[in-house]
Amino acid sequence: MKKNNEFGINTKCVHVGEVEDKQYKGAVSPIFMSTSYAFDEVDVKRYPRYFNTPNQEMLCKKIAILENTEAGLIFGSGMAAISTALFTFLKTGDHVIIQQVIYGGTYNLIVSEFEKYGIEYSFTDSDKVHDFIPLIKDNTKVIYIETPSNPLLGITDIRAISNLAKEHAIITMIDNTFASPINQNPADLGIDIILHSATKYMGGHSDISAGAIAASQIYIDLIWKTAINFGGNLSDQTVWLLERSLKTLNIRVKEQTKNAQVIAEYLEGNKFIDKVYYPGLKSHPQHELAKSQMHGFGAMLSFELKGFLDAMSFQNNLQLIKPSLSLAGLESTTVSPAQTTHALLSMEERLIRGIKDGLIRLSVGIEEPKDLIADIDQAIEKTKK
Ligand SMILES: *Cc1c(COP(=O)(O)O)cnc(C)c1O
Repeated sequence: MKKNNEFGINTKCVHVGEVEDKQYKGAVSPIFMSTSYAFDEVDVKRYPRYFNTPNQEMLCKKIAILENTEAGLIFGSGMAAISTALFTFLKTGDHVIIQQVIYGGTYNLIVSEFEKYGIEYSFTDSDKVHDFIPLIKDNTKVIYIETPSNPLLGITDIRAISNLAKEHAIITMIDNTFASPINQNPADLGIDIILHSATKYMGGHSDISAGAIAASQIYIDLIWKTAINFGGNLSDQTVWLLERSLKTLNIRVKEQTKNAQVIAEYLEGNKFIDKVYYPGLKSHPQHELAKSQMHGFGAMLSFELKGFLDAMSFQNNLQLIKPSLSLAGLESTTVSPAQTTHALLSMEERLIRGIKDGLIRLSVGIEEPKDLIADIDQAIEKTKK
């Protein structure tokens, strides 16, 4: 019998981390809902907030195998995973370097909580490695990156960052949500701690809130000690749903990635669109870097509508594709950052970040690209009038 890490990706998705139904031999994992487990004569003291009910314990194995790490942990949300990871390794007097463009929730966590605990932080000026170097100080403990980043799909050089951090004995963390473990495995590029909002591709059906961390056993043991204090564990019902979702992770994400390439190429040739941001396009300034560190270019892309096309009207005119703050579901969704996620910034601040009023972020689903393209076309036609 092959070992878990020798299986192909779809086999890993389907079979690793199943809870065996010894009693009835059912095809799927039974759900163990108990919050109370006998502790005599067993070495594991099981309890939901210890992250070790049977369903939690087994799903962590699937997370780890998908990210090529020794261990994993699952949480009630992406932010529960991210906050727990950061607070495990940072204490009063420590310093963390954070990539300029990161998920809004992570940004808020840092600017609204860190000062209270006396944790210093510096944001880089860009996602370029040379902007991280001058920020390193004696008390720098963590470097935190996110790639591809939101909403302009910037690519950070993962290998260069992990090499730089290793030279200074700094721990590296990456938010790998946008790529998913199918399109990018940062552990293979030297990153220490990999974070996911499993609410996105891992869940994939827009019906689960969850988070995940993948890392070495040593790091997961340390994170676990903080995690049981913060209590961000997932309910076993949701653990089970997430396991079910992960069985199709590869076939979903591969299809979505394929569709995104088709749509990105189409949009690039559309005269009503100024610019398309997608790492799979040759015109993307970091296309070669993306190729060298990603297995696929992902299913998130952004584009700028020509100035006379209103972003909100365009989205309201879409019929198949729905406007949504979230992303990565089976269904395609759009968001216009200037009017939503980045609305609190001034126009000037937005432009510094390259976020124009006509910018649309598209999360590409599994629908046929020709149907999505037809929907975009008819929405442009309607918006023009
Ligand atoms: C959604 C998201 C998060 C936060 O995840 P939640 O599950 O909403 O807590 C973190 N990072 C990225 C890139 C995200 O898209």
